[in-house]
Amino acid sequence: MITKIIHEEKIQKAKKYVEKGESFVIVTHVTPDGDAIGSSLGLYHFLTTYGKDNVTVVVPNEFPSFYRWMPGAKDIVIHEKYPDFAEQLIHDADVIFCLDFNEPKRIEKLAPAVIASEGRKVMIDHHLNPADFCRVTISYPEMSSTSEMIFRFICRMGMFDLMTKEAAACIYTGMMTDTGSFTYNSNKPEIYTIVSELIKKGIDKDLIYRKVFQVYSESRLRMQGYVLYEKMKIYPEHHAALITLSKEELDRFHYVTGDTEGFVNMPLSIEGVTFSVFIREDRDYIKVSLRSVGDFPCNLFACQYFNGGGHKNASGGEFFGSLEDAIATFEKGLKEFNPNKTEEIEKLA
Ligand code: 5GP
Ligand code: MN
Repeated sequence: MITKIIHEEKIQKAKKYVEKGESFVIVTHVTPDGDAIGSSLGLYHFLTTYGKDNVTVVVPNEFPSFYRWMPGAKDIVIHEKYPDFAEQLIHDADVIFCLDFNEPKRIEKLAPAVIASEGRKVMIDHHLNPADFCRVTISYPEMSSTSEMIFRFICRMGMFDLMTKEAAACIYTGMMTDTGSFTYNSNKPEIYTIVSELIKKGIDKDLIYRKVFQVYSESRLRMQGYVLYEKMKIYPEHHAALITLSKEELDRFHYVTGDTEGFVNMPLSIEGVTFSVFIREDRDYIKVSLRSVGDFPCNLFACQYFNGGGHKNASGGEFFGSLEDAIATFEKGLKEFNPNKTEEIEKLA
């Protein structure tokens, strides 16, 4: 038996939208990760199995190729490639599910269309401080992943039987990737009850691991070697590490979306390092990824120095300026950031 965490009233409201809606759009955050794609496709399979024949997943931009094996991934509409089509779908939708993000800013150029649409919006998410732009806001930051929430949502609507093996594979992928293959954010026993149910649906969890984590290109692996050998700086007095990559370096290793996934976690395997930051030149700004182990609130650091946020142990932000300035900002932050004096930032993060 799984604890009823989502409020009954929210389940009933969202269920009504599911029953009555004809056209559905599922949107998720920019540069979608495994949980974004996994939760979206998990819900997509559920809705189509339920009998809805007008369901589309729309994402702001390209997602990593190692998620393309996921059932339904080929039908995902990428706004950056087909803006008019994507915006028309959003405009026409009866129901819009907003998955794995807490505020419109996180869907970037998709935001105006989603805000303007008259479709009923339902947020299902596990980030802190959900913004108020949906009719139903199902937000539980204590959850391991949005994919876990999709599992719970389907069960609570009494429709577990409509969860196919395809849906289960997508949900599992999201849970696995958002917990670093169950190495962080994953101490709640119920997660394993859910995993057990997903395996009973027929998924091959070992194969899913391999499809996601063991399909890198040669150049990606060489870039990893380069990063560890030449680009990782340790700050022992701060128990911190920094990795940086410029546009030129990314090009040198034929970077494609997803190639740097996981880099930020690598320095955390050094004894004593509890805070790791990865700064890279991305599209038209500098992207910052932050990870910590233990109590260090990297979301508050992201908020104070990089206009970002996220979870206590995994967060992100952005910087507008040069890579050098971003590094200087990080180093300044290391010297002055005081996690015990963050009440004001906490409200913003
Ligand atoms: P990643 O480093 O994998 O891009 O992001 C890690 C976590 O931080 C994700 O859960 C994501 O929601 C959050 N995050 C990433 N970038 C941003 C950002 O620019 N702003 C905020 N508020 N959160 C972010
Ligand atoms: Mn997530």
